[in-house]
Parts: sequence; structure tokens; C-alpha cells
Amino acid sequence: MRYVAGVDIGNATTEVAIARIEGSDIEFLASGIGPTTGIKGTLDNISGVFYSLKNALAKLGMDYSDLQEVRINEAAPVIGDVAMETISETVITESTVIGHNPSTPGGIGIGVGTSVLITDIPKITEPMDIIAVIPSTVNFLDAVDIINSAKKNVSIKGAIVQTDEGNLINHRLETPIPIIDEVRLIDRVPLDLVCAIEVAPVGSVVSTLSNPYGIATLFNLGPKETKRIVPIARSLIGTRSGVVIKTSQGDVKERSIKAGTITFIGEKKSVTVDVDEGAEKIMDAIATIPEVQDIEGEVGTNAGNMLDNVRRVMARLTEKHPRDVKIQDLLAVDTFNPQKVKGGIADEFSLENAVGIAAMVKSDRLQMEMIAQELTNKLRVPVYVGGVEADMAIKGALTTPGTSTPLAILDMGAGSTDASIINREGKVKLVHLAGAGNMVSLLIQSELGLDDFELAEDVKKYPLVNVESLFHIRHEDGTVQFMTKAIDPNVFAKVCLYKEDGQLVPLEGIDSIEKVRKIRQNAKKKVFVTNAIRALSMVSPTGNPKDIQFVVLVGGSALDFEIPTMVTDALGKYDIVAGRGNIRGTEGPRNAVATGLALACLPQE
Ligand code: ADP
Ligand code: MG
Repeated sequence: MRYVAGVDIGNATTEVAIARIEGSDIEFLASGIGPTTGIKGTLDNISGVFYSLKNALAKLGMDYSDLQEVRINEAAPVIGDVAMETISETVITESTVIGHNPSTPGGIGIGVGTSVLITDIPKITEPMDIIAVIPSTVNFLDAVDIINSAKKNVSIKGAIVQTDEGNLINHRLETPIPIIDEVRLIDRVPLDLVCAIEVAPVGSVVSTLSNPYGIATLFNLGPKETKRIVPIARSLIGTRSGVVIKTSQGDVKERSIKAGTITFIGEKKSVTVDVDEGAEKIMDAIATIPEVQDIEGEVGTNAGNMLDNVRRVMARLTEKHPRDVKIQDLLAVDTFNPQKVKGGIADEFSLENAVGIAAMVKSDRLQMEMIAQELTNKLRVPVYVGGVEADMAIKGALTTPGTSTPLAILDMGAGSTDASIINREGKVKLVHLAGAGNMVSLLIQSELGLDDFELAEDVKKYPLVNVESLFHIRHEDGTVQFMTKAIDPNVFAKVCLYKEDGQLVPLEGIDSIEKVRKIRQNAKKKVFVTNAIRALSMVSPTGNPKDIQFVVLVGGSALDFEIPTMVTDALGKYDIVAGRGNIRGTEGPRNAVATGLALACLPQE
């Protein structure tokens, strides 16, 4: 009788499976889990291994010394680095079209008129529609007086206010109007030009100014001009209010920033692609190279710096020359990155186009042997490198009730998405692709402009609710839940994350559930649906995912409340049956590799 442990060192998590082996029988006794310490495939991992082993052994009242054998994974790909490159920039020159979204706009509806300084309104004699421009030098009560006593032929359709007194003004008007306040640089608002204001009712978002054709209708724009205001319309999506000013030339430019080129080097040929052409072109390029040997970025550009950085970090950790570190895969994703608009008047942000990139380096077995050696010394138990991860993952996945060969798995972790396939004869083929859970969180973080990666992780993992009263919340699917205890007034009327224990975590400064939901779901699709199809095409015997029948989803990201369904849906189009694994019938999608490693301790027939 022997006690063995399989230890899977992942990018994020170190998982352990403890089993008892008697002859050719194996019985699993306990699992353990803990965070991976340091970057996967480096000696820093050792303390995480100790922690996770202890976590599992403690459940059995056992100690390290009770083990006869430990197997660790051959952690093939090691670091996945993710980075963002902004590839467009919105610049407003003298003549202005702006978008702005203060926190407390006043009134409701759309107002279109000519921008006129509030103090000039009494001088106007001819009939016209007006948007009043109210600088902070004018007392709000005086502004109210001017608007209320405006001549009959002057119709005031809205106001742009420098201070935050929009609501104070509106409450005193005989006829309320839409008002945008907090326009800090109000002296840059051009006068005597047509502008449009839109304030949506509480709880909804602007619909006309966020639609290029809506703006075109208000301003009578031609097709060329309509194209130019797309970035403005886009920057107003999901906001409660906005203002757009039409100037003689309507001069907002979307400039593209040179991000540099990326070259994929294969055995027989290389392909170079411009990063600012977007993710699709980049992924098309990499797909033309059957076995990527290395990936390089153009020297002196952002793309070059990013890939260099991956190489340098890896070189330092493995004591190699950066020249000898090869990047084996890359996932590019189109995204948005909020950037301050140059020349804006109210510190506007525009969602600029960006490309997010995850890159992955291949490590060597030597590295894992070093970890195994060090662990053997410390544990005083023989530790072996127990075979390639995706190989082990298949062994583990096959313990899911109802599975048999041929079978493919998708291991969706933090840094990489791995696929492997086993045929009836037990032959295994596998790939490791860059881009997984971390990439999803990075996209969420940058698109929502969150400061904190941990918060982005939570936005990824938990569904959203609106706290509609102190006694009820509305879930993102529309259902209402009544609470038995009063909700903390601090989260009242806020968009919150709904954690498993019913805890509500407010997302400060975010007022649209729909926007967060869309960003979250798109990020997941862009990474996992893309990688699922990419990975399965590569392991499919024919290169076509259609020729795979059964896929089991494993790894931490398979715990997600929507990723497995998205992947299952997407694979359904290829007639593939896919579903979340349940390792050993008890572990859910986790512990596949650790379980496989423990199984690998069985005597070979
Ligand atoms: P690795 O093998 O790379 O260590 P794991 O298989 O442990 O990765 O998966 C880690 C990833 O799973 C992280 O990106 C993490 O955010 C994600 N994850 C973990 N739990 C959940 C969950 N409940 N919902 C969604 N994602 C999750
Ligand atoms: Mg893993």
C-alpha cells in the first residue's frame, strides 16, 4: 500500500490530489487547493506546493512523511503576460463636437438649439431655439430669472452649466429643460453654434446621442460627417446624459497610433502584421503558421516593448538569455480603453480602440526537474515530474462519469487555455494557447476603467444586481428578490455584485447594469470562445473541430457562471457535445491535472 500525491502547479492555483494505491487499485482520499506562489514553473512555486499539500493532508490527519511518492506536472507553458495597446486617439481641435456625462444631470429629454451665453439671452430679438450656456460667474438664481423671463419668441431648449447646480436651476424653472452640468472648461464651449443635449430618465441611458444616425438626424449630417461622429456616439453609449455640439467643420479626429508590428516566425515562413489593424488580422496571421517557433515585436514600438518584456521577465526567472526565450503563442483581442479626449471641455473620456494581447512562453522540462529536486530535498519524499499537463488533464477528465475515449478536453485556467485529445488507442495530442481567465479580467478592468484587478476578477465571477429599495434587489435577469433583513443604506440605488453568501459589493461610479454585463460577456466570449475553437481545431485529427465529438471543460474558468454555456453554445455549431467536467464525480471541473498525476503513479501494465 502506498500513499501518493499529484500536484498541479498552475498559473493561479496549485491543486493536489491524495490517493492510496494497492496493487493496481487506486482510491482517492482528499484534494487540496491553494494559490500558486510566484510565476508557474519557477522555484518560487515551492511554498505554494507545501501549502496545498498540507491543505489536503490535514483533511486526512496525515503528514508529508506519510507519502511515498509525489508527482508534479510538467508545466509546459509558463508565463502568460497580458498587455493593452491603445491604437486610436480622439482629438478635438478648435471647432468642437463633445460628449459629456456629469453625475447628476437635470431634466429629461432632448434639446436642440443655438448655444448662447445666458447673459446675452435678454438681448435676443429674433425668434430662435436656444441652449443656454451658464458659466460659474453667473449666480444660479440669476440664470433662473433670465430663463423664466425670456421673451415669448425665444425658446430655451436646454442648458449647459459649469457648476453642479443643474438640478437647483431646473427645480426653479417654469418649464423644466434638459440640463448638463459640471462642464468644467465651459469657456471652450463654442457659442452661436447648434448643439444637442440629451438627458435620459433615471435608470436608463441616452438613445439618440449614442446612435450615430440619431446625431445625424439632429444635425442634418451627411454620410461623411456621420462617419466622423462615430467615436462621439460610442463614447456616450451607456451614459445617462450627453451633449454634442456641431461646429462649422465638426472637427473631431480619430487618429490611429502606431503600435508597431508583430512577426510570427514559423519553420518555413514568417508573417508580419500591423497591430493597429486589429485583433482579427493578427489572429488570421498566426493561424497561417502551423508551428510557431517564436514571435517578435517591432523594435522601438509598443508591440516590441510588450513582447520584449515577456522575454525579459522569463529570462530572469529561468536564468537564461532573453534571446533563448521563445514565445510560442499569442492571443489578440479587440477592446476599448477609456482615454482622456485631447482638447475636450469637461475632462471627457472617449473609449479608444485598443488591442489586448496575451503571450505565452514555453518552458523546458529542466525547470520542472529543478523544482522536483528541490521538493525532494525539502519533503524527503521522492518527487517526479509526472508528464505533460494536458496529458494528465485527460486522464483526470476521464474520471468524469459518463465519459470515455475518444475525448477532447479544454482546460481553461488563468494564463492559458489547453486542449488535448485522446483517441481510442489512447494516443494523446495537445496544445497550449495564450489567453484565459486573466485576460478576461484584464479586458473587464480596462473597459470599465477599474483601478483594481481584484475588483475586475469579482466583476467576472459574480452576477449583478440593482438595489432598488432597502428590502429588495433586482437581479440582472430581471427577477426581484425580497430580503429578510434591511439592506445597508450605503448600497441603496447602486449597481452591486451579488456574491455567493448574499453579500452586496457596490460598483462605485457605475450606473448601468447593462453596460457592465455586456462588457463582461463580450470579454468572456472574445477569449474563451475564440480559444476553444482555435484549440480544438489544432488538436482535431483533421484540423476541423467538427471531427471531435465530445469535449469536457475543466479548469478554474470552467467554474464560471457563463463561460461553460458560451463555449458549449459555440461548439454546438460544430455538432460537438461539450459540458463541464466533474472530476472523480465529486470535484467539479477542478483537480483534473492533479488527479491525472496521481493516476500516473499506478504501476504501468
Ligand atoms: P491555473 O491552472 O492556470 O492555475 P485555474 O484552473 O486554477 O488556473 O483557474 C484559474 C482561473 O479561474 C482564474 O482566472 C480565476 O479567475 C478563474 N476562476 C476561479 N474561480 C472562478 C469562478 N468561480 N468563476 C469564474 N472564474 C473563476
Ligand atoms: Mg491548470
